[in-house]
Amino acid sequence: MKANIKDFDPAELEGFISELGEKPFRAKQIGTWIFAKSVCKFSEMTDLSLSFREKLEQSAEIKSTLTLTCEKESIDGTKKYLFELFDGNKIESVLIPEGRRNTLCISSQVGCAMGCTFCLTARVGKIRNLSCSEIVDQYLTINKLNGGSITNIVYMGMGEPLDNLENTIRSIRVFTNSNYIGLSPKRITVSTSGLVNKIKELGEKININLSVSLNAPSDAIRSEIMPINKRFPISTLLEECKRFPILKRKYLTFEYVIIKDLNDSIRDANELAKLLKGIKCKINLIPFNEADPISYKTPPVQRVLDFQKILSSYGLNVKIRKSRGADILGACGQLAASYPLDKKIKEVVH
Ligand code: SAH
Ligand code: SF4
Repeated sequence: MKANIKDFDPAELEGFISELGEKPFRAKQIGTWIFAKSVCKFSEMTDLSLSFREKLEQSAEIKSTLTLTCEKESIDGTKKYLFELFDGNKIESVLIPEGRRNTLCISSQVGCAMGCTFCLTARVGKIRNLSCSEIVDQYLTINKLNGGSITNIVYMGMGEPLDNLENTIRSIRVFTNSNYIGLSPKRITVSTSGLVNKIKELGEKININLSVSLNAPSDAIRSEIMPINKRFPISTLLEECKRFPILKRKYLTFEYVIIKDLNDSIRDANELAKLLKGIKCKINLIPFNEADPISYKTPPVQRVLDFQKILSSYGLNVKIRKSRGADILGACGQLAASYPLDKKIKEVVH
């Protein structure tokens, strides 16, 4: 089978080119053609010799396997894209305009294995990891449709990016390589439910922003809603977070999905503040987005404001994240790509 050039990261492409007997710098030229100039035919790469182009043709291909099957726009300008993959599976990506920023929320897996009780993607279960090209092609397709206007990428769509660490890292290398797409690492954020061993590996291999979905102030509550907490409790998670290499003038982010009568009390706020005091971080409070068949409820606005006030009183930097795209089921935790949701959430052992 021919290799898909888009599944290599820049260093791997150099290796592949060397095996074909060419100088590694040819890989940069190929990367520039594909990702910066959108040329996806070897025959049009005019700065490569004819014989090399023929050799490439025989051993590799430049393939996009995503088919855009549906696009929905919310009244707030958020757009949700549904893609069909080569094997019939489906994923979603969401484009969120916010002032001068245009943030693309991409998927890293079909479904998710982590089983968080508040999240619709969990109900799909994990079907499979996405390849590097399937991750990058979400960006390439949507950026083109939107006149090249994407400024930021967040790995907050379907799936747990650290449960697909290899392809997450490959795709980040494609996004950030200056000969390829050339996005600043400062504009890329990986969000995780807290796979502690993988957080360490991510920090060792690459420099980007990290967002951790904390969602609870205590192990008792967190283990109830996020099974991963039974393997990696909060103290272990926070220890690892403190060691994560943070980009200059950037912060670690903690996401906190705030759910009515579950983790939204005054006591919860105080406990959370004490946990995070002393960590250089920002906190995003995300009012729970309701979605059938999950029975949790969004707290009243005043309760979210009170919660924020308590955290702020400890000197913490805390924002309430507006729910975007909820009318098209494009908000956090609402991505299910029209999979049936009747599955019971399985306890997952990693
Ligand atoms: N798996 C990764 C990234 C995808 S989930 C992670 O969990 O971090 C992206 C974010 O959506 C997470 O912060 C998660 O806590 C949040 N989320 C999930 N379901 C939600 C819901 N129903 N309402 C609001 N936020 C939700
Ligand atoms: Fe997976 Fe993240 Fe949803 Fe948890 S919140 S089930 S980790 S996508």
